[in-house]
Amino acid sequence: MRLKNIPRARGVIEDSHFTVKDPQDHKGNWKELFGNDHPIHLEIGTGKGKFLLQLAAEHPEINYIGIEKYSSVLLRAIEKLEEMELENILFIRCDAELINEYFAEDEISRIYLNFSDPWPKERHAKRRLPSRTFLARYDRILKKDGRIEFKTDNRILFDFAVGEVPGSAFEITQITYDLHADPVMNEGNIMTEYEEKFSALGNPICKYILQKVSQGDASADSLC
Ligand code: SAM
Repeated sequence: MRLKNIPRARGVIEDSHFTVKDPQDHKGNWKELFGNDHPIHLEIGTGKGKFLLQLAAEHPEINYIGIEKYSSVLLRAIEKLEEMELENILFIRCDAELINEYFAEDEISRIYLNFSDPWPKERHAKRRLPSRTFLARYDRILKKDGRIEFKTDNRILFDFAVGEVPGSAFEITQITYDLHADPVMNEGNIMTEYEEKFSALGNPICKYILQKVSQGDASADSLC
């Protein structure tokens, strides 16, 4: 994402009651902050928030948290949210590397990764959000029946992500290399900003859904 530094961004984010300034204090207690025990879904690398804001508007029965590293990008999400006045969505400005400090075991029901940065240099592979390093972090906070949904138009990143799944705590339950042409996986699809941009250029969108390998399956594997 091209970043224009917006000097007022930090101040707006500090002042907004839609951003959580002390996420470590809510570890294990996010239900209290939302005031209900609805499932919590995260989007990591939420950008300007289009996808998550639309989901939150459509699903008041789910609580959403958007995680974004840069204030100048997150600012756009906060400004849109101030106009929408939704009560089931919050944002954290942080690096996703810290998620295990902010969320407890079994606290999260779903994680969305949309058009994650590719980090093309091999030495940066661990920074890729669908990498094995991150899958281990997601495993710790996701419930047993929790899932991860990842989509991108970057085939190299997608092939890397698919290759990271074996040996992780997850298995691929659904996969497509052309989401918009797949009537089953595309049902109810909400386009992200990047998805709109790149599909308009004719790029097919890849998507997978991961679920945790059940204990039974894992022990069966270990016997082989
Ligand atoms: N998800 C949006 C979409 O599909 O339109 C934005 C995609 S943009 C390519 C990736 C976003 O992820 C950027 O806003 C970037 O700042 C954010 N990001 C990348 N790595 C991150 C990390 N480790 N923690 C939090 N945000 C991150």
